[in-house]
Amino acid sequence: MFWEKEIETMDVNELRKLQLERLKSALLRANLAPYYSQLFSEVGFDPAKVSSLENIQSIPFTAKNDLREHYPYGFVAVPRDEIVRMHSSSGTTGRATVVFHTQGDVDRWTNFVARSIYTTGGRKGDVFQNTMGYGLFTGGLGLHYGAERVGMMVIPSGPGNSVRQINLMRDFGTTAVHILPSYAMRLLDVFEELSLDPKKDVNLKIAFLGAEPHSEEMRQKIADSYDMEAYNSYGLTEMNGPGVAFECPEKDGMHVWEDGFLMEVIDPETAEPVPDGEVGELVFTTLTREAMPLIRYRTRDLASVYPDPCPCGRTHLRISRIKGRSDDMLIVKGVNMFPIQIETVLMGFPDIGRNYQIILETKEHMDEMTINVEVLRSADDMRVYEGLKKQIGAAVRSEILITPKVNLLQPGSIEKTEGKAIRVVDKREKE
Ligand code: ADP
Ligand code: ZN
Repeated sequence: MFWEKEIETMDVNELRKLQLERLKSALLRANLAPYYSQLFSEVGFDPAKVSSLENIQSIPFTAKNDLREHYPYGFVAVPRDEIVRMHSSSGTTGRATVVFHTQGDVDRWTNFVARSIYTTGGRKGDVFQNTMGYGLFTGGLGLHYGAERVGMMVIPSGPGNSVRQINLMRDFGTTAVHILPSYAMRLLDVFEELSLDPKKDVNLKIAFLGAEPHSEEMRQKIADSYDMEAYNSYGLTEMNGPGVAFECPEKDGMHVWEDGFLMEVIDPETAEPVPDGEVGELVFTTLTREAMPLIRYRTRDLASVYPDPCPCGRTHLRISRIKGRSDDMLIVKGVNMFPIQIETVLMGFPDIGRNYQIILETKEHMDEMTINVEVLRSADDMRVYEGLKKQIGAAVRSEILITPKVNLLQPGSIEKTEGKAIRVVDKREKE
């Protein structure tokens, strides 16, 4: 049973006390890593004197670059032979970073994932197909072990080979999947090519959607198309991977497992804390990790904290959907925007298909935005979609105040990637 009621519904004051106890030992452990022992002595921080959660605010943030500069072992706080696993980020935004785990770390991580799965209704007896990449990427092994711990039958299909994915779902009666939202959309095309109906011809009940930003509208579309419940799953390699924050049955915000992670939300520009409800950058401190404690790690992921408690009874903080990374923010013709805003607009049109991409170019010294988007039904003459094109242009304009060029394309024509979807291609001339 993975409804860890005592911890998940712990009184908030008790939870803060638990965090403080764990923080104290986390800081002492961090002090054993070359990077933090030097940092702490440089800024005169004494980990033995911590008496409140706020005390860590005098420690400088750790950034992805620090991990890169102290690659490979600079953050390791245990003897090398205590390490049983390493993982690496996908390298979406530059050189990948590595993270290490002891057996205890792997165990606790597995538990966070098992708890998350259980929260969504995943149970022993479910058949779980994990279409995330196995290997250095955390999405594969992370969910794999968590699902096994719950007692699910795991099909470690890994990504790609869509026809085989569908065959596995049919042959073994897959009830739960872990899938990139962009891949869940793309798979619908393959169902269609095989003349199969994902609502009837497979038996999916639950999906864990994670690893890339996606809008509420896209979640809805995926859930409806497969007739299943789709839950948002958030994590990052530096905080183990999946199992940091997960939606509960309310599907309204993701609970951050605060017994494992201390979260701060800061203004990405000033690094000052932002009030609940306001969007800021998520910053995490690992509370239980032994091999590689991270203190005040800046994720660059933007989200807001829900100010009110969740009706489900879990007391752990909820965060909103991830709006994007601070480095996903685009400045187009002087206007700041996130790709997800465009996705939200696109998903509002029923005739829109399953893939889109935003192209930015410089034309006569000016930014130009083109939205390539597939339509749901192919047409011999794409001119039938002229009206839709105009509507999309206008809707995007009213959302981001920029008039894009809209290209409507036949289903399946935007180039596919096996990993995380590439939503923006920026070909602009840099000054
Ligand atoms: P990389 O940072 O190289 O992509 P990871 O594989 O560790 O490496 O990916 C973690 C990142 O993926 C997070 O920091 C976040 O930007 C994104 N991500 C993970 N889960 C979600 C989610 N549910 N919604 C939006 N973005 C997500
Ligand atoms: Zn809840």
